[in-house]
Amino acid sequence: MNPNPVFSKDYQSKPYWWERTPRPSLEPIELPKETEVLVVGSGYTGLCTSLQTSRNGLETLVLDAEDAGWGGSSRNGGQISTSLKPGFDVLSAKFGAEKARAILKEGIRSLDWIGEFIEQEKIDCDFQRVGRFYGAHTPRQFGLLEKKIVNQPEGLEVPIELIPREEQHSEIGTDFYHGGIVHPHHASLDPARFHQGLLEAALSSGVSIKPQCEVQEVLQAKGLFHVSTSSGVIKAKNVVIATSGYNRKTPPWFKRRIIPIGSYIIATEELDPALVDELIPKNRVITDTRKLVVYYRASPDRKRILFGGRVSLNETDPQKSAPALHQQLVTIFPQLASTQVSHSWMGFVGYTFDEMPHSGEKDGIYYSMGYCGSGVSLSSYFGTRLGQRIAGLPEGETPLTLVPFQTRPFYSGNPWFLAPSILFYQMKDRYFS
Ligand SMILES: Cc1cc2nc3c(=O)[nH]c(=O)nc-3n(C[C@H](O)[C@H](O)[C@H](O)COP(=O)(O)OP(=O)(O)OC[C@H]3O[C@@H](n4cnc5c(N)ncnc54)[C@H](O)[C@@H]3O)c2cc1C
Repeated sequence: MNPNPVFSKDYQSKPYWWERTPRPSLEPIELPKETEVLVVGSGYTGLCTSLQTSRNGLETLVLDAEDAGWGGSSRNGGQISTSLKPGFDVLSAKFGAEKARAILKEGIRSLDWIGEFIEQEKIDCDFQRVGRFYGAHTPRQFGLLEKKIVNQPEGLEVPIELIPREEQHSEIGTDFYHGGIVHPHHASLDPARFHQGLLEAALSSGVSIKPQCEVQEVLQAKGLFHVSTSSGVIKAKNVVIATSGYNRKTPPWFKRRIIPIGSYIIATEELDPALVDELIPKNRVITDTRKLVVYYRASPDRKRILFGGRVSLNETDPQKSAPALHQQLVTIFPQLASTQVSHSWMGFVGYTFDEMPHSGEKDGIYYSMGYCGSGVSLSSYFGTRLGQRIAGLPEGETPLTLVPFQTRPFYSGNPWFLAPSILFYQMKDRYFS
């Protein structure tokens, strides 16, 4: 007898995406003595930066402490939105209306850009503009969504459709929500395939990639960086930190600014196609108005549902988070009560204190990180801009560099405040929404 009926017989604690796209085994390379550009981290940010520096004639080496793409970039939900979290009011209070508009336009631009980029680079990654259904978990939240459509800030209008509760089943096979909205331009892809395509493009553009090589210290002397790694020391003219939620052994200035938050995902076993058609008829990606975010979708082959969120106060083992995620999935889709889980995994999202991504330069070290859970398009877009900037191209400039990268007193990289914050949001979602 199966000891835990939630798990299928072939259950695995690893990303579902790695079945089709295992972590790549790369030709081993020696650590060179020096390079023009040294990129720390081989996710979307690092690879997109390296593509630009290499194509513009700079010798580029990417190092990763693990396998290539081992971080968020091969284990995320594959959902793509306009991405920047703070609203126009919040940003214009801080930076003035004009700058706020310029910053928010970068988020909108990144959504268009990623489709153009994937087409241009011919990356086969199941990219589709499927649209997003954003469900209202209370009637009050539906009212707020209605207002959001009418009150879009001037110059930042995006298409949004209102879906009243009576019409909801055309979008999603549940009565859990009180209606919602649809963002028709939002998209989905297979994240590990996207990473694989970037990896191949980077390699064929001349980028060297060395996995299993941890960067341990970055020092500066006589106009060069001396970088200590687990494979020796290398000198570099330029260093890029592209580690986002996996900020290990990176200079303390970065650790003090990134809040690593675990996000957990399950994949169901294969389902009857008619059931998938009933649950997610238009193949939308789905999120809702709860502060403790859940995100879900059908797999690209529409055989499974992939469901992600945060179900524990502290970080936990994916095998432990799976039953709780399954329970949440069944709350939305009771039709899946007897469906089993075939994969469960987790990864770290790089969050920031102002909920904004950050890209720029600190003491000569370049960085782009902190995409707050919306990094598929943002990390690729800002990684590309950063590479162009290092190569001295004008298109590398972005208004994002105007946003100060904040920390908080006594924060050194260990988010001790996470558990109480999650508890607070759980209460808020349940009782005050
Ligand atoms: C479970 C999960 C679900 C998500 N879902 C979505 C989603 O649906 N949509 C969306 O837009 N975004 C999502 N995200 C966020 C998105 O995946 C990330 O923002 C994006 O992948 C960040 O890419 P990156 O290249 O900056 O960092 P990563 O891909 O995380 O790569 C960082 C790399 O740095 C390496 N590294 C760290 N320290 C060192 C060191 N000292 N030396 C060498 N290497 C080092 C790590 O090994 C890692 O491979 C999700 C993230 C997670 C974890």
